[in-house]
Amino acid sequence: MLLDSTIAELRTLLSSKKISSRDLVEEAYGAVEKLNPKLSAFISVRDKKEALLDADRADSSVKGPLSGIPFCLKDAYVTKGLKTTAGSKVLDTFIPPYSASVVQKLVAGGAILIGKNNMDAWGHGSTNENTDYGAVKNPWDITRVAGGSSGGSAVAVATRMSAFAIGEDTGGSIRAPSSMCNVAGLKVTYGRVSRYGSIAYASSLDTVGPMAKSASDIAEVLSVIAGADPKDATSSRREVPAYGALLSKPLAGTRVGIPKEFLAGGLDTEVRRVFEDVVKTFESLGAMIVSVSIPSLAYAVPIYYLIATSETSSNLNRYDGVRFGQSRELFTEETMRRIIVGTYALKAGYHDELYTRATKGRTVLVREFDAVWNTCDILLGPTMPSVPYRFGDLMEDPVKLYLADIFTVPVNLTGLPSLALPAGFSEDGLPIGIQLIGKKFDEATLLSLGYAYERATDWHTKKPNMLS
Ligand code: GLN
Repeated sequence: MLLDSTIAELRTLLSSKKISSRDLVEEAYGAVEKLNPKLSAFISVRDKKEALLDADRADSSVKGPLSGIPFCLKDAYVTKGLKTTAGSKVLDTFIPPYSASVVQKLVAGGAILIGKNNMDAWGHGSTNENTDYGAVKNPWDITRVAGGSSGGSAVAVATRMSAFAIGEDTGGSIRAPSSMCNVAGLKVTYGRVSRYGSIAYASSLDTVGPMAKSASDIAEVLSVIAGADPKDATSSRREVPAYGALLSKPLAGTRVGIPKEFLAGGLDTEVRRVFEDVVKTFESLGAMIVSVSIPSLAYAVPIYYLIATSETSSNLNRYDGVRFGQSRELFTEETMRRIIVGTYALKAGYHDELYTRATKGRTVLVREFDAVWNTCDILLGPTMPSVPYRFGDLMEDPVKLYLADIFTVPVNLTGLPSLALPAGFSEDGLPIGIQLIGKKFDEATLLSLGYAYERATDWHTKKPNMLS
Protein backbone atom coordinates (compact mmCIF):
# COMPACT_ATOMS: atom_id res chain seq x y z
CA MET A 1 0.00 0.00 0.00
CA LEU A 2 1.26 3.48 -0.83
CA LEU A 3 -0.09 4.79 2.46
CA ASP A 4 2.32 2.56 4.40
CA SER A 5 5.05 5.03 3.44
CA THR A 6 6.08 7.98 5.56
CA ILE A 7 5.08 11.49 4.54
CA ALA A 8 8.70 12.23 3.52
CA GLU A 9 8.77 9.12 1.33
CA LEU A 10 5.43 10.05 -0.25
CA ARG A 11 6.72 13.55 -0.98
CA THR A 12 9.76 12.10 -2.79
CA LEU A 13 7.59 9.69 -4.78
CA LEU A 14 5.22 12.51 -5.69
CA SER A 15 7.89 14.96 -6.73
CA SER A 16 9.65 12.40 -8.91
CA LYS A 17 6.24 11.61 -10.45
CA LYS A 18 6.56 7.92 -9.57
CA ILE A 19 3.10 8.22 -8.05
CA SER A 20 0.38 10.86 -8.24
CA SER A 21 -1.72 12.45 -5.57
CA ARG A 22 -4.69 10.97 -7.42
CA ASP A 23 -3.25 7.49 -6.66
CA LEU A 24 -3.05 8.35 -2.96
CA VAL A 25 -6.53 9.82 -2.77
CA GLU A 26 -7.98 6.84 -4.68
CA GLU A 27 -6.24 4.46 -2.29
CA ALA A 28 -7.54 6.35 0.77
CA TYR A 29 -11.15 6.32 -0.50
CA GLY A 30 -10.78 2.63 -1.42
CA ALA A 31 -9.81 1.82 2.17
CA VAL A 32 -12.66 3.93 3.55
CA GLU A 33 -15.21 2.23 1.29
CA LYS A 34 -13.95 -1.21 2.22
CA LEU A 35 -13.37 -0.85 5.95
CA ASN A 36 -15.49 1.98 7.26
CA PRO A 37 -18.77 -0.01 7.30
CA LYS A 38 -17.03 -2.44 9.71
CA LEU A 39 -15.16 0.08 11.85
CA SER A 40 -17.24 3.33 11.92
CA ALA A 41 -14.17 5.53 11.73
CA PHE A 42 -15.89 8.30 9.75
CA ILE A 43 -19.04 10.31 10.37
CA SER A 44 -18.87 12.18 7.05
CA VAL A 45 -16.82 11.39 3.99
CA ARG A 46 -16.04 14.29 1.70
CA ASP A 47 -17.33 14.13 -1.87
CA LYS A 48 -14.70 12.03 -3.68
CA LYS A 49 -14.90 14.09 -6.87
CA GLU A 50 -13.95 17.24 -4.97
CA ALA A 51 -10.99 15.51 -3.33
CA LEU A 52 -9.83 14.17 -6.69
CA LEU A 53 -9.99 17.67 -8.16
CA ASP A 54 -7.71 18.84 -5.34
CA ALA A 55 -5.42 15.89 -6.10
CA ASP A 56 -5.20 16.81 -9.78
CA ARG A 57 -4.34 20.38 -8.82
CA ALA A 58 -1.59 19.12 -6.50
CA ASP A 59 -0.29 16.90 -9.30
CA SER A 60 0.03 19.85 -11.64
CA SER A 61 1.63 22.26 -9.16
CA VAL A 62 3.14 21.65 -5.71
CA LYS A 63 1.31 23.71 -3.11
CA GLY A 64 3.31 23.19 0.10
CA PRO A 65 5.08 20.64 2.29
CA LEU A 66 2.04 18.35 2.43
CA SER A 67 1.06 18.80 -1.20
CA GLY A 68 -1.18 15.99 -2.43
CA ILE A 69 -1.23 14.05 0.88
CA PRO A 70 -4.68 12.84 2.07
CA PHE A 71 -5.73 13.47 5.67
CA CYS A 72 -8.79 13.27 7.86
CA LEU A 73 -10.05 15.27 10.77
CA LYS A 74 -11.81 14.57 14.04
CA ASP A 75 -15.38 15.82 13.68
CA ALA A 76 -14.63 18.33 16.45
CA TYR A 77 -13.34 20.87 13.92
CA VAL A 78 -15.57 22.97 11.73
CA THR A 79 -15.27 22.55 7.98
CA LYS A 80 -16.89 25.00 5.59
CA GLY A 81 -19.77 23.34 3.76
CA LEU A 82 -19.12 19.91 5.33
CA LYS A 83 -21.31 18.61 8.15
CA THR A 84 -19.67 18.90 11.59
CA THR A 85 -21.26 17.08 14.52
CA ALA A 86 -18.73 16.69 17.37
CA GLY A 87 -20.13 13.14 17.51
CA SER A 88 -23.55 14.35 18.66
CA LYS A 89 -26.98 14.34 16.99
CA VAL A 90 -27.47 17.79 18.53
CA LEU A 91 -25.34 19.02 15.61
CA ASP A 92 -26.59 16.49 13.05
CA THR A 93 -27.78 19.21 10.69
CA PHE A 94 -24.96 21.71 11.25
CA ILE A 95 -23.09 22.83 8.13
CA PRO A 96 -20.41 25.33 9.25
CA PRO A 97 -19.94 28.59 7.36
CA TYR A 98 -16.13 28.58 7.84
CA SER A 99 -13.20 26.21 8.44
CA ALA A 100 -11.08 25.87 11.57
CA SER A 101 -7.59 27.42 11.43
CA VAL A 102 -5.97 23.99 11.54
CA VAL A 103 -7.89 23.00 8.41
CA GLN A 104 -7.01 26.24 6.63
CA LYS A 105 -3.31 25.74 7.43
CA LEU A 106 -3.31 22.14 6.21
CA VAL A 107 -5.12 23.00 3.01
CA ALA A 108 -2.71 25.90 2.42
CA GLY A 109 0.11 23.37 2.96
CA GLY A 110 -1.36 21.24 0.18
CA ALA A 111 -2.97 18.43 2.21
CA ILE A 112 -6.25 16.98 0.92
CA LEU A 113 -9.19 16.44 3.27
CA ILE A 114 -11.07 13.20 2.77
CA GLY A 115 -13.48 13.23 5.69
CA LYS A 116 -14.50 13.73 9.30
CA ASN A 117 -13.79 11.14 11.97
CA ASN A 118 -16.09 9.60 14.51
CA MET A 119 -15.52 10.61 18.14
CA ASP A 120 -17.06 10.44 21.60
CA ALA A 121 -19.74 13.14 21.64
CA TRP A 122 -18.17 16.53 22.53
CA GLY A 123 -14.92 14.69 23.40
CA HIS A 124 -16.59 13.07 26.41
CA GLY A 125 -15.04 9.64 26.75
CA SER A 126 -12.04 7.35 26.51
CA THR A 127 -13.52 4.50 24.49
CA ASN A 128 -15.42 6.08 21.58
CA GLU A 129 -18.64 4.39 22.65
CA ASN A 130 -20.25 7.70 23.66
CA THR A 131 -21.00 8.66 20.06
CA ASP A 132 -24.31 9.00 18.23
CA TYR A 133 -22.73 7.54 15.07
CA GLY A 134 -21.96 3.96 16.10
CA ALA A 135 -19.14 2.93 18.46
CA VAL A 136 -15.75 2.86 16.72
CA LYS A 137 -14.28 -0.66 16.50
CA ASN A 138 -10.66 -1.50 17.09
CA PRO A 139 -9.11 -2.86 13.87
CA TRP A 140 -6.84 -5.15 15.94
CA ASP A 141 -9.88 -6.87 17.47
CA ILE A 142 -13.31 -5.64 16.48
CA THR A 143 -14.85 -6.89 19.72
CA ARG A 144 -12.88 -4.16 21.51
CA VAL A 145 -12.95 -0.38 21.69
CA ALA A 146 -10.61 1.80 19.65
CA GLY A 147 -10.07 4.25 22.51
CA GLY A 148 -11.42 7.77 22.62
CA SER A 149 -12.35 10.34 22.12
CA SER A 150 -10.40 10.63 18.83
CA GLY A 151 -11.02 6.93 18.07
CA GLY A 152 -12.09 7.39 14.45
CA SER A 153 -8.89 9.30 13.68
CA ALA A 154 -6.66 6.59 15.20
CA VAL A 155 -8.49 3.86 13.30
CA ALA A 156 -8.22 5.80 10.02
CA VAL A 157 -4.43 6.05 10.41
CA ALA A 158 -4.01 2.45 11.61
CA THR A 159 -5.93 1.10 8.61
CA ARG A 160 -4.33 3.44 6.05
CA MET A 161 -7.54 5.28 5.25
CA SER A 162 -5.39 8.42 5.29
CA ALA A 163 -1.74 9.42 5.72
CA PHE A 164 -2.42 11.27 8.96
CA ALA A 165 -5.26 12.68 11.03
CA ILE A 166 -5.92 15.62 13.31
CA GLY A 167 -7.25 14.72 16.74
CA GLU A 168 -8.11 16.70 19.84
CA ASP A 169 -6.79 16.09 23.34
CA THR A 170 -8.45 17.55 26.44
CA GLY A 171 -7.58 14.74 28.82
CA GLY A 172 -5.98 12.06 26.66
CA SER A 173 -8.19 11.84 23.60
CA ILE A 174 -5.29 11.75 21.15
CA ARG A 175 -3.01 9.54 23.23
CA ALA A 176 -5.55 6.92 24.40
CA PRO A 177 -6.79 5.87 20.94
CA SER A 178 -3.29 6.17 19.47
CA SER A 179 -2.03 3.68 22.03
CA MET A 180 -4.99 1.38 21.57
CA CYS A 181 -4.63 1.30 17.77
CA ASN A 182 -0.81 1.25 17.43
CA VAL A 183 -0.32 4.74 16.03
CA ALA A 184 1.63 7.80 17.20
CA GLY A 185 -0.20 10.84 18.56
CA LEU A 186 0.95 14.18 19.89
CA LYS A 187 -0.78 16.24 22.56
CA VAL A 188 0.83 19.64 22.01
CA THR A 189 1.70 22.30 24.59
CA TYR A 190 -1.41 24.36 25.32
CA GLY A 191 -1.20 27.30 22.89
CA ARG A 192 1.11 25.65 20.34
CA VAL A 193 -1.68 25.06 17.80
CA SER A 194 -4.65 27.40 17.28
CA ARG A 195 -7.99 26.18 18.61
CA TYR A 196 -9.98 28.52 16.38
CA GLY A 197 -12.85 26.55 14.88
CA SER A 198 -12.60 23.67 17.30
CA ILE A 199 -15.83 22.74 19.07
CA ALA A 200 -14.95 23.45 22.68
CA TYR A 201 -15.10 20.75 25.32
CA ALA A 202 -13.07 22.34 28.16
CA SER A 203 -11.36 25.45 26.87
CA SER A 204 -8.46 25.60 29.34
CA LEU A 205 -7.50 22.01 28.49
CA ASP A 206 -8.37 21.50 24.80
CA THR A 207 -5.48 21.03 22.36
CA VAL A 208 -5.29 20.28 18.63
CA GLY A 209 -2.69 17.75 17.50
CA PRO A 210 -1.55 15.28 14.85
CA MET A 211 -1.92 11.50 14.77
CA ALA A 212 0.20 9.54 12.31
CA LYS A 213 2.19 6.36 11.79
CA SER A 214 5.42 7.71 13.25
CA ALA A 215 7.14 10.54 15.12
CA SER A 216 8.71 11.79 11.89
CA ASP A 217 5.28 12.13 10.25
CA ILE A 218 4.03 13.95 13.33
CA ALA A 219 6.94 16.39 12.99
CA GLU A 220 5.96 17.07 9.37
CA VAL A 221 2.36 17.85 10.27
CA LEU A 222 3.20 19.86 13.38
CA SER A 223 5.49 22.13 11.36
CA VAL A 224 2.48 23.07 9.23
CA ILE A 225 -0.18 23.51 11.93
CA ALA A 226 1.81 25.10 14.82
CA GLY A 227 2.10 28.82 15.40
CA ALA A 228 0.34 32.01 16.38
CA ASP A 229 -3.16 32.74 15.12
CA PRO A 230 -4.73 36.18 15.53
CA LYS A 231 -8.11 34.42 15.84
CA ASP A 232 -7.06 32.51 19.00
CA ALA A 233 -5.73 34.73 21.79
CA THR A 234 -4.40 31.67 23.64
CA SER A 235 -2.19 30.65 20.72
CA SER A 236 1.48 31.30 21.39
CA ARG A 237 3.67 33.71 19.43
CA ARG A 238 6.73 31.59 20.10
CA GLU A 239 8.68 30.71 17.03
CA VAL A 240 7.91 27.32 15.46
CA PRO A 241 11.10 25.24 15.29
CA ALA A 242 11.93 23.16 12.21
CA TYR A 243 10.74 19.95 13.88
CA GLY A 244 11.82 17.73 10.99
CA ALA A 245 15.39 19.02 11.03
CA LEU A 246 15.66 18.46 14.80
CA LEU A 247 14.66 14.79 14.71
CA SER A 248 18.18 13.38 14.70
CA LYS A 249 19.22 15.17 17.91
CA PRO A 250 21.29 12.58 19.85
CA LEU A 251 19.52 10.84 22.70
CA ALA A 252 22.59 9.73 24.69
CA GLY A 253 22.79 11.38 28.08
CA THR A 254 19.12 12.44 28.13
CA ARG A 255 17.74 12.10 31.64
CA VAL A 256 14.48 10.17 31.38
CA GLY A 257 12.38 10.45 34.54
CA ILE A 258 9.84 7.84 35.58
CA PRO A 259 7.33 9.10 38.14
CA LYS A 260 7.08 6.35 40.72
CA GLU A 261 3.38 7.10 41.15
CA PHE A 262 2.84 5.89 37.55
CA LEU A 263 3.89 2.38 38.52
CA ALA A 264 2.17 2.29 41.88
CA GLY A 265 -0.50 -0.28 41.06
CA GLY A 266 -3.64 -0.52 38.99
CA LEU A 267 -1.43 -1.22 35.98
CA ASP A 268 -2.30 -4.26 33.86
CA THR A 269 0.56 -6.83 33.96
CA GLU A 270 0.98 -6.81 30.18
CA VAL A 271 1.17 -3.01 30.12
CA ARG A 272 3.80 -3.19 32.86
CA ARG A 273 5.85 -5.75 30.92
CA VAL A 274 5.78 -3.60 27.78
CA PHE A 275 6.68 -0.53 29.80
CA GLU A 276 9.67 -2.28 31.36
CA ASP A 277 10.89 -3.30 27.89
CA VAL A 278 10.62 0.31 26.74
CA VAL A 279 12.73 1.46 29.69
CA LYS A 280 15.40 -1.09 28.71
CA THR A 281 15.36 0.15 25.11
CA PHE A 282 15.84 3.74 26.23
CA GLU A 283 18.71 2.64 28.47
CA SER A 284 20.34 0.78 25.60
CA LEU A 285 20.11 3.96 23.53
CA GLY A 286 22.14 5.83 26.15
CA ALA A 287 19.39 7.48 28.19
CA MET A 288 19.86 7.90 31.93
CA ILE A 289 16.83 6.59 33.79
CA VAL A 290 15.90 8.61 36.88
CA SER A 291 13.15 7.84 39.39
CA VAL A 292 11.10 10.93 40.26
CA SER A 293 8.05 11.70 42.33
CA ILE A 294 4.96 13.78 41.60
CA PRO A 295 3.08 13.30 44.88
CA SER A 296 -0.22 14.86 43.80
CA LEU A 297 -0.68 12.67 40.71
CA ALA A 298 -3.26 10.65 42.62
CA TYR A 299 -5.54 13.73 42.68
CA ALA A 300 -5.26 14.45 38.96
CA VAL A 301 -8.44 12.56 37.99
CA PRO A 302 -10.80 14.33 40.45
CA ILE A 303 -9.17 17.70 39.70
CA TYR A 304 -9.56 17.09 35.97
CA TYR A 305 -13.17 15.90 36.17
CA LEU A 306 -14.20 18.94 38.21
CA ILE A 307 -12.52 21.42 35.88
CA ALA A 308 -13.44 19.66 32.62
CA THR A 309 -17.11 19.21 33.57
CA SER A 310 -17.39 22.80 34.83
CA GLU A 311 -16.02 24.12 31.56
CA THR A 312 -18.16 21.79 29.46
CA SER A 313 -21.32 22.81 31.31
CA SER A 314 -20.55 26.36 30.29
CA ASN A 315 -19.46 25.55 26.71
CA LEU A 316 -22.49 23.38 25.97
CA ASN A 317 -24.86 26.16 27.05
CA ARG A 318 -24.88 27.49 23.52
CA TYR A 319 -26.69 24.42 22.16
CA ASP A 320 -30.00 25.77 23.28
CA GLY A 321 -32.02 24.28 20.45
CA VAL A 322 -32.46 27.68 18.83
CA ARG A 323 -29.20 28.49 17.07
CA PHE A 324 -28.10 25.03 15.99
CA GLY A 325 -31.42 23.47 15.14
CA GLN A 326 -31.54 20.29 17.20
CA SER A 327 -32.92 19.74 20.66
CA ARG A 328 -30.87 19.37 23.87
CA GLU A 329 -32.86 16.18 24.49
CA LEU A 330 -30.36 14.58 22.13
CA PHE A 331 -27.45 14.87 24.56
CA THR A 332 -26.29 11.38 25.60
CA GLU A 333 -26.53 10.15 29.17
CA GLU A 334 -22.76 10.61 29.68
CA THR A 335 -22.89 14.20 28.41
CA MET A 336 -25.93 15.00 30.59
CA ARG A 337 -24.03 13.59 33.56
CA ARG A 338 -21.11 15.91 32.86
CA ILE A 339 -23.32 18.97 32.40
CA ILE A 340 -25.02 18.24 35.72
CA VAL A 341 -21.76 17.60 37.62
CA GLY A 342 -20.15 20.72 36.12
CA THR A 343 -23.14 22.94 36.81
CA TYR A 344 -23.21 21.70 40.40
CA ALA A 345 -19.47 22.36 40.85
CA LEU A 346 -19.93 25.95 39.70
CA LYS A 347 -23.06 26.65 41.76
CA ALA A 348 -22.93 29.33 44.46
CA GLY A 349 -22.42 27.49 47.71
CA TYR A 350 -20.42 24.64 46.19
CA HIS A 351 -18.10 26.68 44.00
CA ASP A 352 -15.37 27.20 46.62
CA GLU A 353 -15.46 23.66 47.86
CA LEU A 354 -15.39 22.08 44.36
CA TYR A 355 -14.33 24.24 41.41
CA THR A 356 -11.98 26.63 43.25
CA ARG A 357 -10.41 23.80 45.16
CA ALA A 358 -9.81 21.91 41.94
CA THR A 359 -8.08 24.93 40.37
CA LYS A 360 -5.83 25.15 43.43
CA GLY A 361 -5.00 21.47 43.05
CA ARG A 362 -4.16 22.16 39.43
CA THR A 363 -1.63 24.80 40.52
CA VAL A 364 -0.03 22.30 42.91
CA LEU A 365 0.35 19.84 40.04
CA VAL A 366 1.91 22.54 37.83
CA ARG A 367 4.48 23.26 40.54
CA GLU A 368 5.29 19.60 41.09
CA PHE A 369 5.86 19.06 37.36
CA ASP A 370 8.01 22.21 37.25
CA ALA A 371 10.19 20.85 40.04
CA VAL A 372 10.69 17.54 38.26
CA TRP A 373 12.65 19.25 35.46
CA ASN A 374 15.47 19.88 37.94
CA THR A 375 16.36 16.20 37.83
CA CYS A 376 15.27 15.05 34.37
CA ASP A 377 14.74 16.27 30.80
CA ILE A 378 11.73 14.21 29.91
CA LEU A 379 9.21 11.90 31.58
CA LEU A 380 8.24 8.43 30.45
CA GLY A 381 5.05 6.64 31.41
CA PRO A 382 2.32 4.29 30.29
CA THR A 383 -0.57 5.87 28.35
CA MET A 384 -3.46 3.67 29.44
CA PRO A 385 -3.62 1.36 32.47
CA SER A 386 -4.97 -1.50 30.36
CA VAL A 387 -5.12 -3.06 26.90
CA PRO A 388 -8.14 -1.96 24.77
CA TYR A 389 -11.36 -2.65 26.68
CA ARG A 390 -14.24 -4.81 25.56
CA PHE A 391 -17.37 -2.91 24.55
CA GLY A 392 -19.41 -1.99 27.61
CA ASP A 393 -16.60 -2.69 30.13
CA LEU A 394 -16.28 0.97 31.16
CA MET A 395 -19.59 2.44 30.06
CA GLU A 396 -21.58 0.77 32.81
CA ASP A 397 -19.46 2.46 35.51
CA PRO A 398 -18.53 6.13 34.95
CA VAL A 399 -15.98 6.11 37.80
CA LYS A 400 -14.10 3.25 36.12
CA LEU A 401 -14.23 5.21 32.86
CA TYR A 402 -12.76 8.32 34.50
CA LEU A 403 -10.03 6.39 36.32
CA ALA A 404 -8.74 5.04 33.00
CA ASP A 405 -7.49 8.60 32.36
CA ILE A 406 -5.06 8.60 35.30
CA PHE A 407 -1.91 8.77 33.14
CA THR A 408 -3.18 11.18 30.52
CA VAL A 409 -5.01 14.01 32.34
CA PRO A 410 -2.04 15.38 34.37
CA VAL A 411 -0.47 16.56 31.12
CA ASN A 412 -3.55 18.56 30.14
CA LEU A 413 -3.91 20.10 33.59
CA THR A 414 -0.31 21.32 33.40
CA GLY A 415 -0.36 22.34 29.72
CA LEU A 416 2.65 20.16 28.85
CA PRO A 417 3.26 18.32 25.57
CA SER A 418 3.14 14.53 25.38
CA LEU A 419 3.86 12.07 22.59
CA ALA A 420 2.20 8.64 22.56
CA LEU A 421 4.05 5.92 20.69
CA PRO A 422 3.37 2.29 19.76
CA ALA A 423 5.42 0.14 22.15
CA GLY A 424 4.33 -3.47 21.88
CA PHE A 425 1.47 -5.93 22.06
CA SER A 426 -0.27 -8.09 24.64
CA GLU A 427 -0.17 -11.87 24.26
CA ASP A 428 -3.51 -11.60 22.47
CA GLY A 429 -2.07 -9.18 19.94
CA LEU A 430 -3.61 -6.01 21.37
CA PRO A 431 -1.61 -2.77 20.99
CA ILE A 432 0.01 -1.13 24.02
CA GLY A 433 1.48 2.38 23.97
CA ILE A 434 3.70 4.59 26.05
CA GLN A 435 3.96 8.35 26.38
CA LEU A 436 6.85 10.76 26.64
CA ILE A 437 6.09 14.01 28.48
CA GLY A 438 8.18 17.12 27.83
CA LYS A 439 8.75 20.65 29.01
CA LYS A 440 6.44 23.38 27.71
CA PHE A 441 7.00 24.06 24.00
CA ASP A 442 9.67 21.37 23.81
CA GLU A 443 7.87 19.18 21.28
CA ALA A 444 11.19 18.92 19.41
CA THR A 445 12.82 16.85 22.16
CA LEU A 446 9.78 14.57 22.39
CA LEU A 447 9.83 13.97 18.66
CA SER A 448 13.57 13.33 18.52
CA LEU A 449 13.33 10.77 21.33
CA GLY A 450 10.34 9.20 19.63
CA TYR A 451 12.27 9.04 16.39
CA ALA A 452 15.27 7.39 18.11
CA TYR A 453 12.93 4.88 19.74
CA GLU A 454 11.28 4.07 16.41
CA ARG A 455 14.63 3.48 14.78
CA ALA A 456 15.47 0.96 17.51
CA THR A 457 12.12 -0.89 17.35
CA ASP A 458 9.56 -1.80 14.70
CA TRP A 459 6.26 -1.63 16.59
CA HIS A 460 5.12 1.40 14.61
CA THR A 461 5.35 -0.55 11.34
CA LYS A 462 2.91 -3.28 12.46
CA LYS A 463 -0.53 -3.30 10.86
CA PRO A 464 -3.79 -4.98 11.83
CA ASN A 465 -4.36 -8.41 10.22
CA MET A 466 -7.49 -7.16 8.50
CA LEU A 467 -5.22 -5.24 6.10
CA SER A 468 -3.35 -8.28 4.88
N1 GLN B 1 -11.36 10.75 28.59
C1 GLN B 1 -11.26 12.16 28.82
C2 GLN B 1 -12.64 12.72 29.06
O1 GLN B 1 -13.59 12.05 28.82
C3 GLN B 1 -10.55 12.81 27.68
C4 GLN B 1 -11.35 13.50 26.68
C5 GLN B 1 -10.59 14.30 25.67
O2 GLN B 1 -9.36 14.39 25.71
N2 GLN B 1 -11.35 14.93 24.79
O3 GLN B 1 -12.78 13.84 29.49
